[in-house]
Amino acid sequence: MAPPFMCSLLFPLFLAVLSIASGYTPISDDTLKSLPVANDDFNIETGSLLSPLLITRVPGTGGQVEAQNHIASFFQENLPEWSVSWHNTTDTTPLTEDEEIPFQNIIVRRDPPWAAEGDVGRLTLVAHYDSKVEPEGFIGAIDSAAPCAMLMHVARSLEEGLKHMWAEMEENGEAGDPFTEVKGVQILFLDGEEAWETWTRTDSLYGARSLAEYWDTTPHAAMSAYRNPLNSISLFVLLDLLGTANPRIPSYFQNTHWAYKKYASMESRLRNLHLLTSKPASGTFLPDKDKKASDFSRGFVEDDHVPFMRRGVPVLHLIPTPFPSVWHTLEDDGEHLDIDTVKDWAQITLGFAAEWMDLEGHMPTTKGRRADRVQVERGADEPKTKTEL
Ligand SMILES: [Zn+2]
Repeated sequence: MAPPFMCSLLFPLFLAVLSIASGYTPISDDTLKSLPVANDDFNIETGSLLSPLLITRVPGTGGQVEAQNHIASFFQENLPEWSVSWHNTTDTTPLTEDEEIPFQNIIVRRDPPWAAEGDVGRLTLVAHYDSKVEPEGFIGAIDSAAPCAMLMHVARSLEEGLKHMWAEMEENGEAGDPFTEVKGVQILFLDGEEAWETWTRTDSLYGARSLAEYWDTTPHAAMSAYRNPLNSISLFVLLDLLGTANPRIPSYFQNTHWAYKKYASMESRLRNLHLLTSKPASGTFLPDKDKKASDFSRGFVEDDHVPFMRRGVPVLHLIPTPFPSVWHTLEDDGEHLDIDTVKDWAQITLGFAAEWMDLEGHMPTTKGRRADRVQVERGADEPKTKTEL
C-alpha cells in the first residue's frame, strides 16, 4: 500500500489521465431522433442553405462574391457566436497568365468561450465553394455546393448543444481545467480547389495549398497546447462530390479508419432508426467498415486534403469511388442532385460531429429534456501512418 503522500500525488494524476482518456458518451437513440432535419433548406429553388450556392462560383467573378456573401452572412445572422475569418491570397493560373486571381478561404470557428486559441483541438469539416471555369455555366452542385450547404446545416444544428455544454462546464468549474481536453469545431470553406486548365500540382488546390502553408508557419503563443493551427486539427473531414444517389465511399486511409468506422456506424444507426430517407442499392454509403489493415493501398484521390495530409494532419476523405457520372459536366446541377442523399449526408455528418463534440445530454430532444449521460471509455485510436501518392 502506498504511503498517504503518494496517494495525494497520484490520485489527481489518475483522474487527469482518466478525464482525457475517457469522458466520451455515445449519442443516444433519443438524441438521434431529435436531430434537426433541414428539409426545405435543401430545396434547389428556394432552400435557404443550398439554392443560393447553385450558381457559377469561379474565383475572381461576381459568383464567387455571391457565394462568399451567402456563407458569411449565414453565420453572422444565424450563428453570431461562430467566428468568421478570411484567408486571402492571390495566384496566377495557366488560363489567366499574369492576372492575379483572388482565392479566399472562409474559416468559421466555434471554440469554448474561455479557451485560448492555441489550446483548442478542432474537429475540422471541409468543403470547397469555388466552381470550375469550364465547361462554361458549370454549377458544381455535388462539387461542392451541396457539401457546403450540408456543413452549414451541421453548424446550425450543433450550436444549442455546444452552448449548453459549455455553460454547464463553466458552472461546474470545469472551464479552464488543464486536464480536460478542450474541443472546438471549425468549418473550412475552401476556394480554388478546381484546376483552371489541367490538374497539376500548381494548377489545383489554390486555397488549400496556401492555407496549409500559412497555418504551418504561424506558431501559437508559447506554452500553447498545440504548436500551430495545423497542429490544432484533430481530424480533417473532407466532403466532396456528395449528393448523387448510390455513393460508394471507400476507407482511403488506415490511420483514420477508426473515424471511418464511426461514420459508418452513425449511418447504420440512423438507417436502423428510419431517420434516413435515401435507399442506396448496396444498403450503405460507407461499405468499408470491415476493411483489413492489409487491404489499404498507398493510392488516394487528390483533393483539398493533400497539402494538410502531407504536413501530418489526419484526414477522413468522404468522396465516392467511382466518381458520380455527372462529375465535371453541365449535368452537375441542382436538378441532378438526389435530395434524399443530400439530406442523409447532412444527418450522418451531424450525428458524427455531435458525438465527437460529446454533446449527449446537451442536445435538445423532442421529449423536452436532455438525455441522461452515460460514461463509457473511448476506443483507442489507431496509430498514425503517413500515406503518399
Ligand atoms: Zn471538381
